Amino acid sequence: MNNEINEFINMHGEKKYAEIVILEYNFDKIFHYCIPQDLKDQISLGSRVTIPFRGKVTTGCVVGFLAESDVKNLKDIRQITDKKPLLTPQVIRLTKWISNYYLCSWEKILNYAIPKTRKAWLNKFDITDIPPQNPPQLPEDDKSSDNEIIFSAEEVKEKPHLKDIENIINNKRFKTVLIRGNDFSSRMKIYLKCIRKTLKEGRQAIILAPTESHLSELAGLLEKEFKDNMIVFDEKIDQKAKYQKWIKIRNSRVNIALGMRSSIFVPFDRLGLIIVEREHSGLYKEERSPRYNAREVALKRAELENIPLILSSKTPSMESYWNVQENNFLEAELNTGEERENLLKKTIIDMTQEKSKKKIISYELQQAISRSLKNKRQVVLFLNKRGFSSFMICSQCGHIPKCSDCNTSLSYHLDIQKRAQLICHNCGKRVKVTDVCVKCGSKEIRPLGMGTQKLESEIRKMFTRAEIRRLDRDSLIKDDDYRQILEEFNQGNTDILIGTQMVLKGVDFNNVDLIGIISADTLLNLPDYRSGEKTFQLLSEVISSFREISFSKEVIIQTFNPEDHCIVALREQDYNYFYQNEIELRKELDYPPFTHIIKIVILGEEKEAVKQRAEYLISYLKSLRKDKESAEFKLLGDVDMLLWKSRNDFKVQFLVKVKDLEKFNQAFKKKYDKMLSKHFDQKNRLTIDVDPLRMI
Ligand SMILES: [Zn+2]
Ligand SMILES: [Zn+2]
Repeated sequence: MNNEINEFINMHGEKKYAEIVILEYNFDKIFHYCIPQDLKDQISLGSRVTIPFRGKVTTGCVVGFLAESDVKNLKDIRQITDKKPLLTPQVIRLTKWISNYYLCSWEKILNYAIPKTRKAWLNKFDITDIPPQNPPQLPEDDKSSDNEIIFSAEEVKEKPHLKDIENIINNKRFKTVLIRGNDFSSRMKIYLKCIRKTLKEGRQAIILAPTESHLSELAGLLEKEFKDNMIVFDEKIDQKAKYQKWIKIRNSRVNIALGMRSSIFVPFDRLGLIIVEREHSGLYKEERSPRYNAREVALKRAELENIPLILSSKTPSMESYWNVQENNFLEAELNTGEERENLLKKTIIDMTQEKSKKKIISYELQQAISRSLKNKRQVVLFLNKRGFSSFMICSQCGHIPKCSDCNTSLSYHLDIQKRAQLICHNCGKRVKVTDVCVKCGSKEIRPLGMGTQKLESEIRKMFTRAEIRRLDRDSLIKDDDYRQILEEFNQGNTDILIGTQMVLKGVDFNNVDLIGIISADTLLNLPDYRSGEKTFQLLSEVISSFREISFSKEVIIQTFNPEDHCIVALREQDYNYFYQNEIELRKELDYPPFTHIIKIVILGEEKEAVKQRAEYLISYLKSLRKDKESAEFKLLGDVDMLLWKSRNDFKVQFLVKVKDLEKFNQAFKKKYDKMLSKHFDQKNRLTIDVDPLRMI
């Protein structure tokens, strides 16, 4: 389990044995095979080969070479599938790292990174070794004779940080720069110039975007300039088209690849730059195995390739900004200060001050909605997806019962006998529900939460003559309905649109002059240490949906906790204030980026079987404590084991908190395969998520 890859090329140029990962079975194991004389010249790192295995013929991927092997009676490799491997040696190294870091098998990540191919395609779209006939074309308007200048003197005078970006690009070595703030078009200008420069050096670039809409926005602008020199991997791409594009890249016919998270694996062999747009986005994390985060993988790839990496975000992830503070990343703050803020009003409403404690809409928000309707403007009311009754809140003072160990909100649950209890989703701690607020003594403490449906009916009662539509997963049956609701709104036929995160996609905010955020608390109190960060990022995005402001607009945020640092930071649009407060909390409670969290989930149909497996796993983890080579770690959730029923399955979850992840993983992987095959199967499944983005 070391990070080295055996790329044996001995003095006599003889590769004797190949290390092979079998692609058709889920083993986390490397097998040795002999390389027949006639294949020696064609085989390379990443080659797919057919091999005999347990009486059958199967496919494997070459991940290393050896001069000697201590395994007896080795079999021969039969054939090489691809004339040129579909992954570059650097990407093979990258997949090895992912397998170690994210505790997934090497086979899994290789299968994920290599595009699916059919035999028929292999001959049709062949890989050539001919270098590209036309060197990368550069736009004609790029006549700058001086190679070292990327940004003009005026540009640098206006935004001094551009000089830093220029230096990093010119250095051509591994360094990460985090571009912060600023609008999309200024970021785009920087990307264009850096890509241009990279191509000029005869090198290639990968650009990642988190969503389909961000991708097409970027692609539209880049295509104008780079035309046939770039390839876009959009979501709808079929396997054949993907393979064709892959071959084009492998044949160096194009030099720019644009895509979502999985495009970090594209096989450029002269990669010179990686750009990750909106690096904070949770969509860079793959939620199914292999559960990697494309931002972290981009960072590793840039390091392996020894090239510059540009991350950018208006609201950087805590991990990235912490890296700025630790001087690992360079920050380029590009805000010029002259923003369009004056026409945008932000109002925070303290819901503890409302007379009627049971109302969802405050008096002030109600007045603002009336005003908008009178002015023939549109209103968007925003409620987050998980707005169900899940935690307790005192409507007198805003107090929310939290776990004394984890500082995350305790979740409100009714047990089978309908008895209420509060449970910590992190560590399993259970607390009795009290009738009185421990902070102010009021009896106004109760579960908070509401759905979009309840909100809709309240709004309908208030504004009987308005056209009201709701946009969330429940109200939609077909994609067509979604489009229809959007179209009606965008044509101005809807007065009030009520929705979840979905409204951020496709709603035209041009005629909207009011966004109401109904309950910041339901976001802030998800049982997740990242809830503050997520709230800040999401609501910042909601606020910035007002892109063009030609008349006065308002964002109203309702909350029981107006002093919460997220709310204050949102009001002031002050990322630094948010970061400073949040990072202190993380440090105090030993949360990432100061530690790593590994989420371990066991799922199965039978309660007892799940429980039993959880106990095996706990004892396996505890046995690591005796392993001197393992790192110190904390196990959460093992004492008060929580067994949930989720859909058809029973579920148990643990968290491992560890500082030295690499060391822990090495020890963890030692007997993991054995434990896995002994106790887990399709019926009782084990999932492991390193650096999870969702805690439940
Ligand atoms: Zn707890
Ligand atoms: Zn209270």
